[in-house]
Amino acid sequence: MVGLTVGVLALQGDVPEHVAALERAGARTVLVRRPGELARVDGLVLPGGESTVIDQLLRLFELRDPLRRLIREGLPVYGSCAGLVLLADRLEGGAEDQQTLGGLDIVARRNAFGRQADSFEADLDWDAASGDGYAEGGGRGPLRAVFIRAPWIERAGDGVEVLARLPQRDVAGRPLAVGAGRIVAARQGKLLATAFHPELVGDTRVHQLFVRMIEG
Ligand code: GLN
Repeated sequence: MVGLTVGVLALQGDVPEHVAALERAGARTVLVRRPGELARVDGLVLPGGESTVIDQLLRLFELRDPLRRLIREGLPVYGSCAGLVLLADRLEGGAEDQQTLGGLDIVARRNAFGRQADSFEADLDWDAASGDGYAEGGGRGPLRAVFIRAPWIERAGDGVEVLARLPQRDVAGRPLAVGAGRIVAARQGKLLATAFHPELVGDTRVHQLFVRMIEG
């Protein structure tokens, strides 16, 4: 694959897992902790973690303003879980003073699944949504998605492409207590967001999609 360099924001969260997934998807990776490091990347991953902490560290490390500008200028960014929260233009359930970077015309509901379902797994119909030339060889069936105190996308603007919704049941066949049918993956322009953690399951289709969005 071509010499793409994808940054992983390395302030907090599951950074090594994204590095590994990106490298399996054919990208070179670099950790981003300083504003100057943003200049070297063709795209950036905002990992899962705790969005309130990442928000505060973004401000402390003076990454917030440059990153907002780069997003406006079209830098490809993929946000997973807490990263989805950070990409949302509007947030419900945020902590006091919590800010997002914005860019994606969605309302994200933070910690949407509540206590009874803090973490669960579901199989998503991924290829149907992203198969328009992205899933090489026609796709590989359901995408195992891990949700850990995840957000969902409460509303998405007209310019947002919905890539996946939650099914009715989890992987064990139990009906979801909440969230069935909710939007859990979307993209708009060069921005991609998933409420779940593909970096944890060894299936690189989401990272491959992001690499192709950067190349496109
Ligand atoms: N609940 C976290 C938040 O609001 C996200 C959890 C995660 O990234 N796994 O940031």
